[in-house]
Amino acid sequence: MSVPKIVLFYVFTPLPDPEAIRLWQHALAEGCGLTGRIIVSEHGINATVGGEIDDVKKYVRVTKSYAPFKTADIKWSNGTGDDFPRLSVKVRPELVTFGASDEITVTEDGVQGGGEHLRPGQLHRLVEEREDVVFFDGRNAMEAQIGRFKDAIVPETGTTRDFLAEIESGKYDDLKDKPIVTYCTGGIRCEVLSVLMKNRGFSEVYQLDGGIVRYGESFGNSGLWEGSLYVFDKRMHMEFGEGAESLGRCVSCNTPTPLFANCADESCRRQFLRCEDCTEAGRHPHCEECRSAVQSA
Ligand SMILES: [Zn+2]
Ligand SMILES: [Zn+2]
Repeated sequence: MSVPKIVLFYVFTPLPDPEAIRLWQHALAEGCGLTGRIIVSEHGINATVGGEIDDVKKYVRVTKSYAPFKTADIKWSNGTGDDFPRLSVKVRPELVTFGASDEITVTEDGVQGGGEHLRPGQLHRLVEEREDVVFFDGRNAMEAQIGRFKDAIVPETGTTRDFLAEIESGKYDDLKDKPIVTYCTGGIRCEVLSVLMKNRGFSEVYQLDGGIVRYGESFGNSGLWEGSLYVFDKRMHMEFGEGAESLGRCVSCNTPTPLFANCADESCRRQFLRCEDCTEAGRHPHCEECRSAVQSA
């Protein structure tokens, strides 16, 4: 019987020869018949791959046999068997592209100078003890449209590259003395973001350990998370149990939906929320920006 699984993990550790790691990871993942995306840099590895459960287990076992990856925190989820179009293994200057690789120092212990890691239970304790805890979304603004932590601040970011300008803009300066909890899908973006924030005067920064994925496994829909989680594979979104309703609404009929549609203009890269019924009916084929451009033309 087919049991497709997806694993998500990252390790920040110095890799003096990222190209050698890339070749090894490519041969290993390909040999296991996996698809997905693996990024390697001098600072470590970031991977999201999927395949048959036994093949994924083998990939994980061999990957962890390499001493620097031994401590990798592997997050498992159910796949469909058709989650990624292909296997891509690349060397990049940064594991996550903040455009700040010079500012990040990585040792065998991981990223230096980042926010204190909080496990889901510790996060709840902090929120109980302190009245002014602020959630700061470490993802692209689009991802937060369908789900986010209660009362979270969502920076105006189209890509991770936009964070530096956002935190330097002065917009968030009133948070500099407050306890801030950054969060993202699996935790990797916060490893870097929390350093950048601390370096810019945010004095008490925490990061959610294991990201929203781990939090959802612990607390489901009964905690501080609201809505759906945007994910970067064919599923596009996931929910933590029954009764989760997306915070986003269809641009056409206003029904809650976690589904994003691509703008009908292929040169436009924007995505917007559109429910299944409206997609089937062909409603609202263009994004708002393209629609208003046509109307004003
Ligand atoms: Zn609709
Ligand atoms: Zn458009």
